[in-house]
Amino acid sequence: METLFCKKCNSEQEYYDIPTPPHISAYCGSCDSFIKHVPKTIPDSTDVCLYFGKYKGTKIKDCTDVNYLKWALENVDSLKPNIKKALEIRIKQLSK
Ligand SMILES: [Zn+2]
Repeated sequence: METLFCKKCNSEQEYYDIPTPPHISAYCGSCDSFIKHVPKTIPDSTDVCLYFGKYKGTKIKDCTDVNYLKWALENVDSLKPNIKKALEIRIKQLSK
């Protein structure tokens, strides 16, 4: 995960991104404040497929079932790190 400087936290923070065409908006992973618009070229970390359960084969970015995503995050053992991160990002996106 890349980091951006958050003025509110005064530190380098991991961020999550939310597509806000024509930009992607970066939000601080620590305090949830808007940091800046980032180029579209940053890879979408939620562009990965679930590999278990009823949404197996579905891209996390296409899944809108936030309750299922939360369930998966808490209950699926040994989640791959990239999937875990993607779930966290997607849950935040859906919770906005
Ligand atoms: Zn912050």
